[in-house]
Amino acid sequence: MMVWWFFPLAWLLAALALLFPYRHWLLGAWREPCWRRLVVVVESDDWGAGPRAQAEALDALRQVLADLRDRDGRPPVVTLGVVLDSADGEVWRSHREFSPAPLTDTVREAFLRGGDAGLFHLQLHGACHFWPAALVAAAQGDPAVDAWLAAAPEAPTEALPDALQSRWIDGSRLPAGLLPTRTLEAAAEEEARAYLRGLGEPPRVAVPTTFIWGEAAERGWARAGVRVVVTPGRRFDARDSAGRPVGPPRPLFNGQRGAEGILYLVRDLYFEPRRGHRPEGLWEDLGRKRRQRRPALMETHRYNFLDPADRPASLGALRVLFVGVLGRFPEVAFLSPQVMGEILARGDPQWLDGSFRVRLAAWWHRIEGVPGLDRRLRLSGLAWILGPLARHMEGVS
Ligand SMILES: [Zn+2]
Repeated sequence: MMVWWFFPLAWLLAALALLFPYRHWLLGAWREPCWRRLVVVVESDDWGAGPRAQAEALDALRQVLADLRDRDGRPPVVTLGVVLDSADGEVWRSHREFSPAPLTDTVREAFLRGGDAGLFHLQLHGACHFWPAALVAAAQGDPAVDAWLAAAPEAPTEALPDALQSRWIDGSRLPAGLLPTRTLEAAAEEEARAYLRGLGEPPRVAVPTTFIWGEAAERGWARAGVRVVVTPGRRFDARDSAGRPVGPPRPLFNGQRGAEGILYLVRDLYFEPRRGHRPEGLWEDLGRKRRQRRPALMETHRYNFLDPADRPASLGALRVLFVGVLGRFPEVAFLSPQVMGEILARGDPQWLDGSFRVRLAAWWHRIEGVPGLDRRLRLSGLAWILGPLARHMEGVS
């Protein structure tokens, strides 16, 4: 005769077996802190060394957002992922040697004007947006790379082949070559110290170029003051033979720790007006972030604003985005990734909600849309329990 608990136990075991491959998602989404308010930040990479047009673009960017405030009086936050050096084309043309061309005072002053306005928050993107030796090696066989080096620093790094834009691998061949750990660690520490020398403060936040990086870079950065690394929600540490970024499939979550206790944030929304992204396309994403109790980090690159022909449309779209955010999400808070990292590090209850009710509802919204996992949640029957329970928890306040 079968005992009464056979069926519940069999169901539980079957559900666990079904969900086991997604355990990192389930546990990570549960551990991730829950924000009380929607936090929004626009993250703009690639600024610094390079084309002269940047200073003008930065001033226009600052002016178009100058009058906006969240309900506590904070201006919108635009982070600038800073690149310290490009290449000196003159030296390349005369000696075929790489020599760095640092960011100019004009650009540095435009950074400061935006910083004083509370709008720009600088983050380390890299000493260079490439690994110099890889660039020089690639130039031997690729006339386009050779021409780029000759035209730098006016030539933007965005024009380089993708694989060469990755700083922490040797993208001169594919699959990309790995660089020695010690070399990477030392270079990461050195670039963070160079950032301090150039900009007067240590970098607290680093954004790996092309999101390809490893623990060696994290260790080097951490030694020189970096506390937060912005990630796309997983780690890529190499490029395959087709040049595609590859890495361990495990997800990364906001507040998760990396090497030396460095803290991760996840940036996975995209707003590139030149690619046709419209503010209206983000309302649903932002609503989801609010239900998931996650901050919304939106990526928008320098190239949207560099060309004076595109600039008015891109700036207009950015303004519509911030105005729309304020109108649709009145509780929104504009915080920089550095401040977010500080809040997460101290588990600040003013910003983070640790109650079971909120965590359960947020957890459900975090896992319900994960490709592959959603089907297993339905098959296991858990979707029919967790979904209504989460909605109920959200209704109770
Ligand atoms: Zn970049």
